[in-house]
Amino acid sequence: MLIKYEQCPLCFSSKILFYKKGQLSPSMLSPEKIKITDADYGLTWDLSRCLDCSFVFANPCPEEKFITSLYSEVKDPAYEVEALGRRQTFRRLLHRLEKLRPQRGYLLDVGAATGLFLDEAKKRGWQVLGIEPSRWAVEIAQKQGLKVFQGSLEDFKIDDQRYDVITLIDVLEHTPNPRKIVEKVQKLLKPQGLILIVTPDLESFLAKLTGRYWWHYRPAHLVFFNRQSLKKLLALTHFEVLSWKRYSWHFSLSYLFSRLPFTFWLLHKPFLSSLWSRIQLKLALGDSFEVYAQKKERA
Ligand SMILES: [Zn+2]
Repeated sequence: MLIKYEQCPLCFSSKILFYKKGQLSPSMLSPEKIKITDADYGLTWDLSRCLDCSFVFANPCPEEKFITSLYSEVKDPAYEVEALGRRQTFRRLLHRLEKLRPQRGYLLDVGAATGLFLDEAKKRGWQVLGIEPSRWAVEIAQKQGLKVFQGSLEDFKIDDQRYDVITLIDVLEHTPNPRKIVEKVQKLLKPQGLILIVTPDLESFLAKLTGRYWWHYRPAHLVFFNRQSLKKLLALTHFEVLSWKRYSWHFSLSYLFSRLPFTFWLLHKPFLSSLWSRIQLKLALGDSFEVYAQKKERA
C-alpha cells in the first residue's frame, strides 16, 4: 500500500533527504479525510526532499491505485455550499486564461469535482470535458449536462481528441507522481496547447509563518512544490512558462467562520448566519502558484 522512494519522483536524483516527520499512515485515510473541505490542518505524511530540484514528497507514499479508489468514494456536500465563491474564483482564472488564448477551443479540466469550473468555461464558449474520480461529484456534474469522465487521468484513454487547454487546479499536490500527470497532459494537448497549474507554494510567506500548522499540510496532500521544483517539472515535461502568478480565492464569511473554532457562536445567531453566507471575500493568501505554460514542440 506504501511505496518507498529511493529516488526523487520528479527529477530521478538519488540525492534525497528526510525533510519532515509526519503523523499519517494509510489506515488513517478515508474518503472523509481527503475531501476538498476537510479541516485536518497540520497533518502530513513523512516527507522527503530532493537536494537537486527541492521537490518535497510523501516517502513512503500511498499507492496511486489506493488513492484513486478512496477518491471514487468521496462525497463533499460542503464543497457545493461554497459554489458562489468558487465560481467567482474560476471566472477570474478563465479571464486570465482567455487573455492568453482568446479563441475558445477544447478544454479539459482534470479533477473537475462537481463541474463548477467546467460550467463557467462552457458558458464562455469553451467545449468542455472533465475528469473526476468521485462518483458523487461526477453525478452532480452530469445532471447539469456536463461531460465528465469518472476515473483518474491515468485511466483516461488517449484517442484522437487533442485539447487547446488543460487545467490542473489544486490537483498535483494530491497525486503521488505529478511528473506522470504532466507528461500525460503534454500528450493530450494540441501543439502550443496551454496548461494551467494551481498548487500550493511550500516556501510562501504564509507557509513559513504558520509552520507546521499551514493549512496545506493535510492528509490529501502528498507532494509540495516551491518555485524551483515547479519550474523543473515544467522544463522536464517540455513546457514554456508564459505567466507566473499568485492565486487568490473567493469565499463567504460563513465559510471562514466555520473554519475558525473561536467564531463558532457567530454562525449560530440566526439573524446573522444568512448574512455571512452572502458576504463574499477575496482572500489573497498568495500561498499557491497559478502558472500558465505552453507546450513546446520537441526538437
Ligand atoms: Zn528532484
